[in-house]
Amino acid sequence: MAVPIGGMFATDKLIWHFSSTGQFTAKSCYHALLTHRTFSRGMESGGAASSSGESTRRWKFIWKLSIPPKVRIFLWRACSDILPTNVELFRRGISPSPFCRYCPDKCETTQHVLQFCHGMQAVWNSPPFNLPNMVTFPSFWSCLVYLRENLEQGLFLLATIVIWKTWDLRNRRLHGNEQNGNQGVVSWSGAFLHSFNSAIMSAHQPPTRAFSTTWSPSSDPRYCQD
Ligand SMILES: [Zn+2]
Repeated sequence: MAVPIGGMFATDKLIWHFSSTGQFTAKSCYHALLTHRTFSRGMESGGAASSSGESTRRWKFIWKLSIPPKVRIFLWRACSDILPTNVELFRRGISPSPFCRYCPDKCETTQHVLQFCHGMQAVWNSPPFNLPNMVTFPSFWSCLVYLRENLEQGLFLLATIVIWKTWDLRNRRLHGNEQNGNQGVVSWSGAFLHSFNSAIMSAHQPPTRAFSTTWSPSSDPRYCQD
């Protein structure tokens, strides 16, 4: 009822409803396109965060994990699907192909790199994880949820380190700094997590004093006050 209706002789005009003034600006156009793209990708990827509430919930889940901050940030980047895999680089027009550098018939998605490529399937199938039923998940977040539901807390934290280190090793390999596969990634990650936990433990313990701070009078007569 409060909307004013134009008079009989009012002419129609175009309104750009993405800005508060109704006027077109490049800035408001950019934001509209970005919002549309984020929303579309969320719908396509199925498991990607489709609302800020869901995104906040995921961030809180990752940030509470007792692992080094750089690993948490890596997990968040993987969940946000912004790791520079060939699929992502191809989508941005940077890479000529979306396929894996090591498996020519597979697309290089985040899940492919961290779950299957370069012996990773064997890593998840074997002790200590013993997860032979890992399938290709629709998103990395789904994969993380699967790991959380199927591993006890300590093993789940180890799995997050393995995931982070796998990506690190892959980058080193691509730059010619690493010749080995992922065989030693679990033992390396175990030692890394152990030293991280030890550092946390020692940081929370009160400092031990090298000598007693309580004073008692000397029994030596040379030091008597009188
Ligand atoms: Zn591969």
